[in-house]
Amino acid sequence: MTMAEHIKCLIIGSGPAGYTAAIYASRAGLAPVMYQGSQPGGQLTITNDVENFPGYPDGIQGPQMMQDLENQARRFGTDIRFGMATSVDFSVSPKKVVIDESTELTADAVIIATGASAKWLGLESEKKYNGLGVSACAVCDGFFYRNQVVAIVGGGDTAAEEATYLANICSKVHMIVRREELRASLIMQKRVLNNPKIEVHWNSETDEILGDASGVTGARLKNVKTGETEELTLTGFFVAIGHKPNTDIFKDYLNLDEAGYIQTIKGSTNTNIEGVFACGDAQDNIYRQAVTAAGTGCMAALDAERWLAANELH
Ligand code: NAP
Repeated sequence: MTMAEHIKCLIIGSGPAGYTAAIYASRAGLAPVMYQGSQPGGQLTITNDVENFPGYPDGIQGPQMMQDLENQARRFGTDIRFGMATSVDFSVSPKKVVIDESTELTADAVIIATGASAKWLGLESEKKYNGLGVSACAVCDGFFYRNQVVAIVGGGDTAAEEATYLANICSKVHMIVRREELRASLIMQKRVLNNPKIEVHWNSETDEILGDASGVTGARLKNVKTGETEELTLTGFFVAIGHKPNTDIFKDYLNLDEAGYIQTIKGSTNTNIEGVFACGDAQDNIYRQAVTAAGTGCMAALDAERWLAANELH
């Protein structure tokens, strides 16, 4: 019988939180192993300019920043591997973690940095045309709709940012907002409302995404106040209505809030299970910034190091 590989400090996820945890854990001699998950580099790999991360006065491209973080973690010896944690057993010590439903590992300390993923509207037509005109990432897919008419759903900063981005590429952007106001910050609201290529449809929900064998051809909107419907002709339909934390595999063991974010003990990255630490967007419903994710990644590595030392595992 082959023994499961044992890891002192396992990091699950590879966004700014995971890489920062990896840099600190490597430098502390914890020999961390990182599994990158299904989207190595995380959400920042589908972002273009990052202008608010301190230290980059001219901004940096999201994918480049994640490559830099990966290089920095490798430089200090982090063992970075492809693979996705698909189940865990935190009721035992050491903890058990299964990668890609096949490889079982044991770990003394586990740092969860699994981030969050885009939410969808939940329409059948949205699933049907996913990849055929429906997308949750304007920066990834906007290019395919050059000089075409598109729609974007949502009223937050992401939707506002992506609507502005799409307006630079597409001939017209319909922005579908379910209330009478935008949730986005004032500066982003101004950019949207002053852009002649963006038409905002207030109080509107998407009733159906329309299409044929070639993909999306339109969308039917319903005004939630008047009940009136209208049909838009378009070829791209973007969804930007927020994110869901990637925490499903932990729900039997960790305390989560109603939205699924991991609850950490105030002032730390400790979870309700000893030796399991959470950082980044998987535990942050409020700030959700690259820099705050990186900050909590640092905290998680320091918390893990102290916990391993206190338990004579390091
Ligand atoms: P968000 O702030 O949660 O906004 C989600 C938007 O989608 C809201 O307008 C919401 O409407 C709408 N929505 C939610 N479910 C919907 C549904 N089923 N149908 C239609 N509309 C729906 O999410 P976000 O825009 O992704 O932003 C997340 C966080 O990241 C925020 O804190 C944001 O400030 C930050 N962020 C910052 C920047 C930046 O600073 N450059 C860029 C992007 C994001 P309601 O308003 O009616 O709830």
